[in-house]
Amino acid sequence: MPTDFHGRTHRLELADQSLRTWDATVMASDPELGIVLDRSAFYPGGGGQPPDHGVLLWGGVQTRIIGARSGDDLYLLPHVEDPLPPPGTAVRGALDDARRSTLMRTHSALHLLSGVVFRDFGALVTGGNMEPGLARMDFDLPDPPADFKDRVAAACAAEVAADRAILVTNLAREEAFAIPDIIRTATNLLPPDLEVVRIVDIVGLDTQADGGTHVASTRQIGGIEVVKMENKGKGFRRLRVRLTD
Ligand SMILES: [Zn+2]
Repeated sequence: MPTDFHGRTHRLELADQSLRTWDATVMASDPELGIVLDRSAFYPGGGGQPPDHGVLLWGGVQTRIIGARSGDDLYLLPHVEDPLPPPGTAVRGALDDARRSTLMRTHSALHLLSGVVFRDFGALVTGGNMEPGLARMDFDLPDPPADFKDRVAAACAAEVAADRAILVTNLAREEAFAIPDIIRTATNLLPPDLEVVRIVDIVGLDTQADGGTHVASTRQIGGIEVVKMENKGKGFRRLRVRLTD
């Protein structure tokens, strides 16, 4: 599928979210622009999920990767103190597994949260952000009940215990937009020339067009604590959540 490429880089994480090490060749390298690989599993950031960290191993040394930048190509940003592999170098890429795995659980928790709040309170998501193990999500919810936070927490716990499958599929644009939930969440966000849409589905709870990385089932998220609800005025409610294990 053409959507698995960004410029010259085959984005391996889109098809295999469990991949942590792989072999690649350096296509371009510059201390300021960054490093372009032919194959990469580094999630470059987007949709509220921050970029992966990790290393490139080559020639007996390592280059730490501390971020990414999207342009005509996908540029991996090296640590300023580390050596730079020249173009043509064969490297072994390796992700910081603890960071990525926690981000996958955190990102999946936000899908679960948005699904629960839409199903039980009819509220749409207006924004969100995350770091490993911590996240916030904003809702358009003018009049939440007094026990809103507790009901959301109970519903999240029930959905984790239900161990719903989280599936990733690629659909043709027309097929994707025939799903009512996709129209609800993504119609205005997706580029008009996108032919294939990546769909992330918590089976029976929430369906979204999405480019991020997720765990395979809701039980793999683990405990979700609803830390607090903030009232930002004019129907704007912000929920802060934290993974508890
Ligand atoms: Zn997602």
